[in-house]
Amino acid sequence: MGEHRNISNAVIKRLPRYYRHLGELIEMGTERISSGELSKRMNVTASQIRQDLNNFGGFGQQGYGYNVKFLYDEIGKILGLDREYQMVIIGAGNLGRAIANYTNFEKSGFVISGIFDINPECIGQSIRGVPVRNMTELETFASNNKIDIAAITVPKSAAVEVADRLVKLGVKAFWNFAHVDLNVPEDVIVESVHLSENLMRISYNLSKSEDERGRRHYGKEKAGKRI
Ligand code: ATP
Repeated sequence: MGEHRNISNAVIKRLPRYYRHLGELIEMGTERISSGELSKRMNVTASQIRQDLNNFGGFGQQGYGYNVKFLYDEIGKILGLDREYQMVIIGAGNLGRAIANYTNFEKSGFVISGIFDINPECIGQSIRGVPVRNMTELETFASNNKIDIAAITVPKSAAVEVADRLVKLGVKAFWNFAHVDLNVPEDVIVESVHLSENLMRISYNLSKSEDERGRRHYGKEKAGKRI
């Protein structure tokens, strides 16, 4: 990772998309691809692709294209996907279970090592072979198992307290699904997924385009009347 310290956040944000497309190309048996072909596939300009991928140096060769597997592996390394992460899920409600049941994360190296809840009805159940443990066992679990990432899928009223407890246990990364901002020390990473905010953006854009359609329709009617 060290040698890639100067890559801008904007590029880092785009890397998962490159990684996904390159993975699909590997599955299709494509060994090499030119920036032009990749550009068509990803709907990004070829110059953007060259600029982005030049950050890592030496991936592309003039007239030869990119070596898909090499590029995929290098981007994987930059994204830290060449190792395994131990992830716990706090809150075995609908969302926590959905994440636990989604096997694709594991394929990328995110291994669900523990699931915790306070509800006696779900404690002791097992989700894809991982038992739901009582929150009272969290400290003991953390002293015996490394926790790289904690997915927070508890109600927002509980999320802050749960995160504080995990920070005290040395957890340095949170995948926060609770609809609340977590205040954590500077060296702790929080990636929040506020599903209802995503829906609000969709509803905003939908109503905006409906308004525009309405205005266009109204404009035509008016034009029609004038004729
Ligand atoms: P979801 O919101 O994930 O669809 P849900 O509607 O079933 O789940 P929520 O009330 O959102 O239930 O709670 C999610 C889960 O978090 C529940 O299983 C609940 O028991 C659990 N939970 C609530 N408080 C805590 C806590 N402090 N620590 C751990 N788990 C908790």
